[in-house]
Amino acid sequence: MDFLYFVIYYNHNMKKILFTVISTILFCQTAHALDVVYPASAYSKINSPATFFVGAVKIGDTLSINNEEIPIHRTGAFAQSVKLAPGRNEFVLTSESGTKTYIIERPLLGGNYKPAVFHKYNLPMTVEVSRTGAPIRATAVQEGINRISHFQKGMQLKTVGELGNMYKVELSPSQQAWIAKSDVKMKAEPYEKAFLFDYRDRETDSDYIYEFALSKKTPYSITEGDIMTLKIFNVGANDDNTAIFKITLNQRLMGYSLEYHGDTLVLKIKKEPNLKRAKKLPLKNIKIVVDAGHGGKELGAVGCCRNYEKDFNLSISRYLEEDLKKMGANVFMTRYSDRYVSLNDRVKYTNEKDAQIFVSIHANSLHDSKNPQKHRGSSAYYYYDEARPLTEAILNSVGRSMNLNIEGIKQASFAVVRNTSAVSVLVETAYVINPYDNELLMTDNFRKKYAQAVAEGIKDYVWQNQTRVSRHKHKMKFEKIS
Ligand SMILES: [Zn+2]
Repeated sequence: MDFLYFVIYYNHNMKKILFTVISTILFCQTAHALDVVYPASAYSKINSPATFFVGAVKIGDTLSINNEEIPIHRTGAFAQSVKLAPGRNEFVLTSESGTKTYIIERPLLGGNYKPAVFHKYNLPMTVEVSRTGAPIRATAVQEGINRISHFQKGMQLKTVGELGNMYKVELSPSQQAWIAKSDVKMKAEPYEKAFLFDYRDRETDSDYIYEFALSKKTPYSITEGDIMTLKIFNVGANDDNTAIFKITLNQRLMGYSLEYHGDTLVLKIKKEPNLKRAKKLPLKNIKIVVDAGHGGKELGAVGCCRNYEKDFNLSISRYLEEDLKKMGANVFMTRYSDRYVSLNDRVKYTNEKDAQIFVSIHANSLHDSKNPQKHRGSSAYYYYDEARPLTEAILNSVGRSMNLNIEGIKQASFAVVRNTSAVSVLVETAYVINPYDNELLMTDNFRKKYAQAVAEGIKDYVWQNQTRVSRHKHKMKFEKIS
């Protein structure tokens, strides 16, 4: 296994000849004759009706689990789904070179689970956001894509009740939301209205900027589209206590940010880059951040052949960097080597570079309940609607040029695509725990071609419905409608 990494690493140092020779004889370099990668230890607790065994045997060996022979891929890799009964499950894995026993405990269903009950306060209370980036949600569930907005430290909110570990927040008489108790502090003072003193718009070479001067930080929400609707809550403007602004775009939405600078709320909408039709450099003037997922101590998912997601991600990302540069793009890498970079630092770096496009490269894994034999190929994720066309363009391009299963695009709340002000996409290239995909990921030519397909997809997106002319026809329309 280490040998392969050594090879991937060397390849980046341009020792391409060595790699080409080695990569034609792909098989799992297992340290032991029977290497079980997952579950990670001989005793584990897994709360799921099923799980799987992933790993590799020596080429030519067979493997049975509880006397049932399972399929072995030509690399020696295997991935086998098994059912779990409540309580203790024993699995005996037998290959030519030995036997291993695994005990998996599935917790018995507990009888003392009580659903949380909503408690409404007699009088509203004030809470203050205690951490920047705290999500405010449409439902009382602390996961998924139910986020309305993210609030900065110091913002006060009116709470009207609580449910489990969430407070119910009244943004306006007609709009309620939820925030985690752990993201706020209870305040003694009563909740007070804010004042909107002034609002104005201006533009720079790169952005349209809208500023709303307030007496204090107060909650807001924004909806995306050709018309952006910004609501500023708690400003005593009308019956619903909400000021509403509409901005009619004269371009595609390609990244924006919305945050307080002091007590002024600032909305920055990125101008669509001005493309000069250049056949050789179709991505000239475009800033792109390529993000190789995981790295260093963070391995990412571990593949059948005990190979690491972080290494595949880096290899594809570096090929992608080359391809994008050839198209004239200004490319920035969140990591260039096998090192750990926090999610926060990846986001900060992207926003500092003021990139228009952010692409995060990953390789996929599965929850215990899924069958790794049955999941293959690529999927891609976006959080904001503005990124959906880019996500589609990338996956369409992958589908066109790679002989690969395409699972499709999905909206998901990954931190790197949610918190970056670029148009942001996360690509799951293939499954490290599927033996077939694992072999593909080990193949240098696959990684190279994959990177090319992603680069082509980015180019397709940038050149889609280019609105170069319309920008000069009319200004962005900015109006206060309530
Ligand atoms: Zn990953």
